[in-house]
Amino acid sequence: MRIGVLALQGDVREHARSLSDCGVSASLVRRASELERVDALVIPGGESTTIAKLARTFGIFDEISARIKNGMPTYGSCAGMILLANQVLDAIVGQETFGGLDVTVRRNAFGRQVDSFESDIAFDDGSADLVKAVFIRAPWVEKVGDGVQVLASVDKHPVAVRSETLFATSFHPELTGDHRIHRYFIEEVARPALEKVK
Ligand code: GLN
Repeated sequence: MRIGVLALQGDVREHARSLSDCGVSASLVRRASELERVDALVIPGGESTTIAKLARTFGIFDEISARIKNGMPTYGSCAGMILLANQVLDAIVGQETFGGLDVTVRRNAFGRQVDSFESDIAFDDGSADLVKAVFIRAPWVEKVGDGVQVLASVDKHPVAVRSETLFATSFHPELTGDHRIHRYFIEEVARPALEKVK
């Protein structure tokens, strides 16, 4: 399986490291030719407006958006969640997303209470163990469309969601050394989807 990490801005190296710790070698994606060589993509946390603008500058915005809509397994963390969402609240004027995930997210939703925090939360992958989640000016999901599954919540706000080939978390699993979220993406989202295509 060839997984790419969108390498325009944000926690790129940390995601590549987490993927390789899970036994999947990750390549960095900045150009269309690099996107063509991957089967699945991770969109890291960082700043969603900056990543979107850089994707336009590098001429890969439309290709990413099209691949996502054509079923490329994609995981978005924090800013990556915003970039996968079909609708964004508290966006800046003209903010674009790749879209594909039928959710409405609110940017910086936890920001007014506390900018950053850590919490051990339940994650619905069949294990009773909690996951350590790091939230940094994180969004939450305000509305989910049909077919979107909520896998984790904080104060009743969904913070991990999945719809077929798309998976998103408000939090940053690449910062904790706990690879359960990356493993979920690799084994439960990407691998079954890619095996179906073969
Ligand atoms: N608040 C950031 C945004 O809107 C996301 C923060 C993060 O990725 N840690 O893009």
